[in-house]
Amino acid sequence: MPSPTAIVSSRGAKRLAAGHPWVFRSDLASAPDAPPGVVRVADARGHALGWAWWSPASEIVLRRVTRDANATIDGAWWHGRLRRAAERRAPLGAVTNACRIVHGEGDGLPALVVDRYDEWLVVQLLSAAVEAQRALIIDALRELFAPAGILARNDAPVRAREGLARDVELLDGAVPEAVEVNEHGVRYLAAPWTGQKTGAFLDQRENRVMLGALARGRALDVFSYHGSFALHLARGAASVTAVDASAQALERAQANAARNGIGTLSCVEADAFDYLRDAAARGEQFDVIALDPPALAKNRGSVAGALRGYKELNLRAMRLLAPGGLLFTASCSYHVTKPMFLDVVREAAADSHRPMILRGMTGQPLDHPEVVTIPESGYLKGVLLENGDG
Ligand code: SAH
Repeated sequence: MPSPTAIVSSRGAKRLAAGHPWVFRSDLASAPDAPPGVVRVADARGHALGWAWWSPASEIVLRRVTRDANATIDGAWWHGRLRRAAERRAPLGAVTNACRIVHGEGDGLPALVVDRYDEWLVVQLLSAAVEAQRALIIDALRELFAPAGILARNDAPVRAREGLARDVELLDGAVPEAVEVNEHGVRYLAAPWTGQKTGAFLDQRENRVMLGALARGRALDVFSYHGSFALHLARGAASVTAVDASAQALERAQANAARNGIGTLSCVEADAFDYLRDAAARGEQFDVIALDPPALAKNRGSVAGALRGYKELNLRAMRLLAPGGLLFTASCSYHVTKPMFLDVVREAAADSHRPMILRGMTGQPLDHPEVVTIPESGYLKGVLLENGDG
């Protein structure tokens, strides 16, 4: 019996050839006669193009996982790909007990996220084809990592677009409510069951360490969540203020400060836009500021508004910088590209009437690989600026 084959249009084949794994419904010339799962891919002339995840209910009907037409996507294949992804992260083992092990397309495993928090794994099965392979994936994860528990945070909204239920489900062993993360010696609690993403923002690890090493004087962590930037800033700063709109997040931040023996974290529950404006009106100044808002552009349609929001936040933060002060500003909106974000920073700098020096730009860390031919694998950008005044 030949395996079910998806035939893609020439436009679909061109996209695959350009290094992008997705085929949209409109580029499907002939659908495979198969339930969600793994299918062969070929072009209209019958040339084999490898194997792909097949998601009949999704707009992204195919996600190619290998060009090798002779591959067999079985337990051994999963084991091999997951092992390679883990090996890529090996250097992180020396500095933290929490990292992303699989970043979907970035690791050649579309629609799958696996995060490790100490002895526990949190997974997100984000397409119908990946969901169909759940047992293979869990078996391979057990073999490779021998976790104490595996939790599925399948409450991500993209599951709905795949026709999948949204839920949080324990798949193996037991997973605690809170796990202590050690990030370069700074400790904080992640919340795998209820926290944002899979329990913490692992993607800012290196930026936090970088800013912590530069911290001095008065430091400010805006959009603090559980205080992760603040904890690193406290290493060098005399005082640290954490601002967030969520009282619950700030309670966690305060508890995390205590966990690290930091007695100087002052928490302010406020809207960040208001706080920054009011602090400037009071004549306050800071030597180091972290500005890490949530994704302001959730979709293409909200980009223009998001850019205005980013500009306003950055402008207000720049106005609070002491002479020589540092601002680390980030955007995690996929729809706001690197050039767009730099434009925003430049516009805010112009309006701030301060000579803002570009000290560095950052992208994604080792455990969140961004493949250059797959824009969707990249979302996080950071810019470090110095107020050159004075
Ligand atoms: N910097 C954090 C992650 C920030 S996540 C880290 O490194 O872990 C974004 C945070 O922004 C959330 O905690 C959310 O409660 C907060 N937030 C969202 N909108 C806000 C607003 N308008 N003002 C202040 N905080 C806001």
